[in-house]
Amino acid sequence: MKKLTNFIVNKGTIKRAKYIYLPFVIILCAFLFLAAQITVKKGKSFAEIDQDFHKNIPIVYTPHYNIEFFGLEEFHHFDSKKYGRIYDILKEQGVDTNSFIAGQKADNKLLLLHHTQAYLDSLNSSWELARITELGFLRFFPRKLARNVVLEPMLYQTGGSIIAAKAALEHGWSINLGGGFHHASSENGEGFCALADIGLIIKYLRAKKLIQKAMIIDLDAHQGNGHERDFLEDDDVYIFDIYNKDVYPREHAVKHAINKKVELPIYAGDKLYNSNFIPAIQQAFSEFKPDIIIYVAGTDILDGDPLGGLGVSAQGVLERDELVFKYAFDHKIPIVMLLSGGYQKSNASIIAKSITNLNEKYGLLNK
Ligand SMILES: [Zn+2]
Repeated sequence: MKKLTNFIVNKGTIKRAKYIYLPFVIILCAFLFLAAQITVKKGKSFAEIDQDFHKNIPIVYTPHYNIEFFGLEEFHHFDSKKYGRIYDILKEQGVDTNSFIAGQKADNKLLLLHHTQAYLDSLNSSWELARITELGFLRFFPRKLARNVVLEPMLYQTGGSIIAAKAALEHGWSINLGGGFHHASSENGEGFCALADIGLIIKYLRAKKLIQKAMIIDLDAHQGNGHERDFLEDDDVYIFDIYNKDVYPREHAVKHAINKKVELPIYAGDKLYNSNFIPAIQQAFSEFKPDIIIYVAGTDILDGDPLGGLGVSAQGVLERDELVFKYAFDHKIPIVMLLSGGYQKSNASIIAKSITNLNEKYGLLNK
């Protein structure tokens, strides 16, 4: 007790508090408050798609997809701006990016087609967003700032997924340069997925009576536990999932939602990957005829990915995407591709290369 009293009345401590700690806390609070105002992303939001996309190239993007925080994101190993980098690479290669479709933000009415209001309200908490994104420092951000930094980009990407799905029904294919939040379900977010855009695509298109049956081809390195939880009892949703069985999320309780399941060991590599993937996709298409394919094209299967751990080469990723599109086109089923996981610095160029490869093989950009 005496020690504590000595500490409190210690003049040095009071001086430090007055001239160092207090100004520091005041400056930090002012910075966080100002940052919350500056990081607001002003764009359009929507609940209904009131246009068609026949004149567009059905690739959906807006700069609002990127997660940025005053340039500090550049120092992180996780490429939170891969979406914009893909767009820039395609533009540099002469692709007519002006004809792409602008991504818009999903509004509350749209989100309620799949999420509960209670869940959406929970996303107003910095703690909840820190848990979902596994970015612990977000806990100390004012909630508005935490939302602006991580939730707003996800709202835009989710809106983009819905727009891309609608465009896929018009063009036969589409790519959202974002989305694919396959760990989120209607009442839960986790694994960097706050919004369940995959489930929302199905609910939106069904509400508009545009589809009934959907096939989810989930080739991200992780099990798609979010959409599996959402469609446990739905026979009109066929789930094909290949994933690394040795990493997150290992959610056994929802695995019976998977119609075609391939569990791979860590560091499977191209040979083992393909010897499982090729017969499995053939079987999936012989078992089910959907009205739309939602392709969760995670590139965290790529060699060197710290989270995916499947060790597939860049060429393997290109061949994988090519084969999925081939099956969709051969069976005349519209396909919407969502990017999902994979945040190494090299991912953007590989995804851009895959899109140009799809163009070379199927003339996508001229259709
Ligand atoms: Zn993943």
